[in-house]
Amino acid sequence: MTRAIARIDLGAVQRNCLRLNAELGDGVELCAVVKADGYGHGADDCASAALNGGATRLAVATATEAERIGHGFPHIPLLTMGALTPEELDTALSAGSEVTVWRQGFLQPLADRARAQGRVARVHVKYDSGMGRLGNPDPTEVMALARACAESSELELAGIWTHFATADEPESPFFDEQIDRFEVVAGAVKSKFPDVKAHAANSAAVLRDRRSHFDMARCGVAVYGLDPFQRDPADHGLSPALSLRSYVADVKRFETGNSAGYGRTWQAAAGTCVGVLPLGYGDGVRRGLSNNAEVLVRGRRHPLVGTVSMDNVTIDLGPETDVEPGDEAVLIGTQGDETILAEDLAARLGTINYEVTCGISARVPRVVFE
Ligand SMILES: *Cc1c(COP(=O)(O)O)cnc(C)c1O
Repeated sequence: MTRAIARIDLGAVQRNCLRLNAELGDGVELCAVVKADGYGHGADDCASAALNGGATRLAVATATEAERIGHGFPHIPLLTMGALTPEELDTALSAGSEVTVWRQGFLQPLADRARAQGRVARVHVKYDSGMGRLGNPDPTEVMALARACAESSELELAGIWTHFATADEPESPFFDEQIDRFEVVAGAVKSKFPDVKAHAANSAAVLRDRRSHFDMARCGVAVYGLDPFQRDPADHGLSPALSLRSYVADVKRFETGNSAGYGRTWQAAAGTCVGVLPLGYGDGVRRGLSNNAEVLVRGRRHPLVGTVSMDNVTIDLGPETDVEPGDEAVLIGTQGDETILAEDLAARLGTINYEVTCGISARVPRVVFE
């Protein structure tokens, strides 16, 4: 019996990476993205499992993430994808991370910091092919940045890359436009610097179009068995790695009109039994799931009723129930023949599975198994 626990199936992470690797052609590297604590799954354990599944590189978003992963996996190439302040640059470089450049003004501070650390900074030049966030949208400037890195004694040109805005929208022609643009820019850089890695694909792109694969793919969400298209992960042979579990702390009898939780947003329409689970939005069970979710107990679905509190939620067990205090409750995952996917909760919340698992708070221990 555990108040709230996220169980992480590392075997699933490994299988998902094998699955993604099978999709990638020979010689195309799989870079497992373990930012945001491995999308809420636990970065270190998931990184190990991903490497066991054939990933050869790791990527994170921030300097503190680079510090953690760089020191945990010193021999695995690591890329910090996000923007870095000068202080963060020091942290990322001393963790051995490769870094991203898209502005000329960043080259000098980067070279200075690298020299001060007695290192050569490995750089991935980022082209903005249409995402409109980080990256340089001008192909001429991208080429100039690549040249400057290649010519500097403190810098080494390691990659040319971009990121898709609509890879997860199967009908979007913009995805193809971004590939076309990147092909031109990456082709120009590689014709001058053939050893440079070109990379563009996230999980959705890998599963969608081989043209997007180039020399490497940066996969996050699918590594964890979440569907980048917000449907059923099984459609793409992916296995969800995370389940969120709690237990029934109390079962009580409700008469018609009795209410559960703040604001009395649910009242029993007839006599029924209500189960109380000792977790809530303080654990990442979003308040938007109030009267808007199901929970598995004894292999059956029960509606979540009333308002989600910080530390408790209530479920309607029906007028006759065999559910007892101490029974396991599953908010995400499988019990018996029933499954609740992170994608199901995301749909109810009007968000995406990424946000559901990232939102499981630090109060919930992550416990791994194979
Ligand atoms: C998060 C991220 C990825 C991974 O995307 P998924 O959709 O989770 O596979 C790849 N590239 C960049 C730049 C990212 O920020």
